Amino acid sequence: MSVVPIRLFGDPVLRTRAAEVTDFGPELGRLIDDMFETMDRHNGAGLAATQIGVESRVFVFNCGGMRGHIVNPVFTVEGDDTQTGPEGCLSIPGIQASCTRAAVVTVSGVNRDGVPLHFTAEDIVARAIQHETDHLDGVLFLQRLEPTIRKGAMRAVRESEWFAAGVTSSDDPGAYPTTWVHEPDEAGMTPSRVAE
Ligand SMILES: [Zn+2]
Repeated sequence: MSVVPIRLFGDPVLRTRAAEVTDFGPELGRLIDDMFETMDRHNGAGLAATQIGVESRVFVFNCGGMRGHIVNPVFTVEGDDTQTGPEGCLSIPGIQASCTRAAVVTVSGVNRDGVPLHFTAEDIVARAIQHETDHLDGVLFLQRLEPTIRKGAMRAVRESEWFAAGVTSSDDPGAYPTTWVHEPDEAGMTPSRVAE
């Protein structure tokens, strides 16, 4: 197992739709092990394979008291409830923004051995499932923000040390100071260090 560099905003792989996994051999197991180790090194809540440059539909997560991996994930939204809270991304280090997501989702997929899995999640686990599945479709959380918040987040990205330097992969995204982007009436919200 090894920690691998995380691709940062600006790397085209983050805008790529990953392919369904069809080979459940040892290479998939090694990929998942590397993803766990890399997520843990950065204290992430989740990590998608595209974030380490691998175009396969796999993500790992560790949040809300749950830890796991899902291969070929597909989720459906349950009900109309939404949740709004701080969200971040290991591929966009140092930026946290208020993001609205479905409150409850049901996810299906398989594990590394191809065994089907299916569960319903809420709160941060539901948020992670949506965030990571988006990654596998080449979608970043910036695209899920309200327009005014997105503007602020994009400004923070442009002003970030790593983006200004043209850096597109990092061994230590946690090294960057956090900028919290939110609507003025949310000023009292406390940003947490949640990054996926
Ligand atoms: Zn992310």
